[in-house]
Amino acid sequence: MAVNIEKYNEIRKELGRVTLVAVSKTKPNEDIQALYELGQRDFGENYVQELVDKQAVLPKDIRWHFIGHLQSNKVKYIAPFVHLIHGVDSFKLLQEIHKQAAKHDRIIDCLLQVHIAQEETKFGMDENELEEALAGASGLPHVRVCGLMGMASFTDDQAKVRNEFRLLKTLFDKIGEWPVVNGEWTQLSMGMSGDYALAIEEGSTMVRIGSLLFGARTYSDKGI
Ligand SMILES: *Cc1c(COP(=O)(O)O)cnc(C)c1O
Repeated sequence: MAVNIEKYNEIRKELGRVTLVAVSKTKPNEDIQALYELGQRDFGENYVQELVDKQAVLPKDIRWHFIGHLQSNKVKYIAPFVHLIHGVDSFKLLQEIHKQAAKHDRIIDCLLQVHIAQEETKFGMDENELEEALAGASGLPHVRVCGLMGMASFTDDQAKVRNEFRLLKTLFDKIGEWPVVNGEWTQLSMGMSGDYALAIEEGSTMVRIGSLLFGARTYSDKGI
């Protein structure tokens, strides 16, 4: 078994009230079960099919976070059970989540993904798009937009990473004052294995940690 239990306990202590989402993508059910038995309930996945397969067989009180890039045509598969969708990067996607949530008589919590890294490959919205999405969301009773999610640049430059997190926190606080937000603006999802300590210092409420807990992901892990 590849789960690093010592590290898990250490991180839990370090996090205090910050929510730990254990990112289990590409990892087997036994690893998830091992952390579950230690009390972990929040798990994050990136791939729809993999998430659906895992949800079907693992304990029903797991809170599943979808943290990957979600395609509109796949929302329907996770709508019955998903706890929080982190990476909403368009109003169109939010509308589809609303539509699918309504079918199951659910309200699905979502975070809007912000483009903070300078890297071109990362998805996310800018401030204008955020404003539009939030304005539109007030007409979608089956989604609850409760905060932001962001990924810093993949770099060893700590100052740069800190700066990106700080920018995201500033934006999060600013949006919290907008009248269009209805009082549930509470979650700032930022920080991964390599930068979670910085993220917490900069105000993260939720970190998404994979490889530190489950070991490095290899190519052969992919495509389960
Ligand atoms: C894979 C992934 C993580 C976890 O990454 P680690 O570096 O293994 O902690 C966090 N967030 C997102 C969006 C991911 O895709």
